[in-house]
Amino acid sequence: MYAASPHAAALPFRHIAPVALDIDAVLCDLLGSCRYSCAEYLGVPPEELFLGDNYYVPYEHPDPVLSARLAPVMLGMWTKERTILGAQPVDGGLALATAIADAGRLKSYITRRPPEVDFLTERWLRDHGFPLDGIELHHVGGTNACKSVTARVVGAELLIDDSVHEATSALANGMHVVMVAMPYNRAAAIELAATYGDRFHDAADNAAALAAVISEVRP
Ligand SMILES: [Mg+2]
Repeated sequence: MYAASPHAAALPFRHIAPVALDIDAVLCDLLGSCRYSCAEYLGVPPEELFLGDNYYVPYEHPDPVLSARLAPVMLGMWTKERTILGAQPVDGGLALATAIADAGRLKSYITRRPPEVDFLTERWLRDHGFPLDGIELHHVGGTNACKSVTARVVGAELLIDDSVHEATSALANGMHVVMVAMPYNRAAAIELAATYGDRFHDAADNAAALAAVISEVRP
């Protein structure tokens, strides 16, 4: 059992929408941890790597030859035990998950990590104090899959995620979305707000995400 937060019995938390919660870049700084794994692979200091605009191959090196070496091995970098278990929590992520879970509204953690690392994902969540009791952990795979299909099955109406792909498909499937700001989702946030303004929240950080969740009050 996890310790109930001060929000446990407070309104309006009891009335927020049922939530599916992404893990990477929202709760877990896998990106930051991956930087060390990539640097180790290339044999360069981590400071030499910088974030580009490719969501799936995020790190680049000023030397294009070194950058080109990263792309084919990136999937292996994300799923290394050291990358996953060495990742730090994102600021405000624990408060976000705990507040929603305390309200009985956290239906699922939902991730695109491959199912093979399920045990590492669960261990990381447990090690960092994230609520797990009664909350499902789903791994969504395949290039055509989207999280919203699984999220709907578990009864979630609101997805919290940093991915433009997931936000867009969830909105198209009628869900409400809180998108946590990252460099790679800034341009899309403007378009999504213009198209789905009543169901889309662009959150600067996890504190803003929590405020947005609270604003999605259900009777
Ligand atoms: Mg993510």
